[in-house]
Amino acid sequence: MDMIDPFGRAITYLRVSVTDRCDFRCVYCMAENMTFLPRKDLLSLEELDRLCTAFINKGVRKLRLTGGEPLVRKNIMHLVHELSRHLKSGALEELTLTTNGSQLQRFAQELADAGVRRINVSLDTLDPEKFHAITRWGHLDKVLAGIDAALTAGLKIKINAVALRGFNDQEIPDMLRWAHGQGMDMTVIETMPMGEIDTDRTDQYLPLSLLRSQLERQFTLTDIPYKTGGPARYVEIAETGGRLGFITPMTHNFCESCNRVRLTCTGTLYMCLGQEDAADLRAPLRASEGDELLSKAIDEAIARKPKGHDFIIDRLTNRPSVSRHMSVTGG
Ligand code: SAM
Ligand code: SF4
Repeated sequence: MDMIDPFGRAITYLRVSVTDRCDFRCVYCMAENMTFLPRKDLLSLEELDRLCTAFINKGVRKLRLTGGEPLVRKNIMHLVHELSRHLKSGALEELTLTTNGSQLQRFAQELADAGVRRINVSLDTLDPEKFHAITRWGHLDKVLAGIDAALTAGLKIKINAVALRGFNDQEIPDMLRWAHGQGMDMTVIETMPMGEIDTDRTDQYLPLSLLRSQLERQFTLTDIPYKTGGPARYVEIAETGGRLGFITPMTHNFCESCNRVRLTCTGTLYMCLGQEDAADLRAPLRASEGDELLSKAIDEAIARKPKGHDFIIDRLTNRPSVSRHMSVTGG
């Protein structure tokens, strides 16, 4: 019952944005005065579970909760516990999440107990003042305590950093040593032009080819075939013994091997992060108790999955090439 798109790609990975809300306001992600969805528009946790289950029944093997900040959704652990039945049955290989780490101190152990094995923590700097500047509302000490709690609970962590020109490019070597020193992988990602924000994206954009050559002055980088099912290309760093991934949506097209679709907290399915086309799954979900209509709507959506994205940071207008914010689909 696998889902195969028109380009022969099997869709085995679902990312679910469980809320568009967040306790941070990262400058590249949101405007400071973001308007969020009215709560009444959100799918309930039961509805999210039903949707995820429909996708798992159709061949999804990996599920990632994201947001907004997934751990600020009320009763989110209820959903995690419910979904973990698919891990126990073997239908799902991996249940994971991407988090800003602010609530990890509270939830790390419970996540591990529910069968979560690996998480991604987004962290762009280890300097408390810079951290506060980039997240606007975040506090570094809380995130670091959360990371400690997650490591103590036995969770494997990958640190995701957005590479921002003139902000953290000089600091990446130190972050690498820090992450690898604690057995964490790290991935750097280019900024993508999604959603209106308050700053100029052309100022932030740092091509990772440039970062890589900067790193090569200090470290020995060896390309390795390591894959986590995502678009990162990995190198091993001889000096630290750890792995570093590069995600380069702007400079390198990785769409050929795309295996994922993205569901929002209102039940909208995006078949590509970089395109506007979407399918409403909430109506068929709510139209009947059985999953027949839903299943049909999912099949129709997958049949429309595009070949790839066409991100571009438009220097003339400085408009984002995709108007929705990253917090809608969760990256
Ligand atoms: N709040 C969680 C977090 O920050 O990990 C999950 C959602 S956040 C939208 C997911 C990822 O998207 C984060 O790693 C964040 O750094 C990244 N992100 C947000 N806006 C971005 C942009 N415009 N370009 C590239 N990455 C972005
Ligand atoms: Fe929140 Fe994550 Fe966006 Fe930062 S990147 S504002 S933590 S959703």
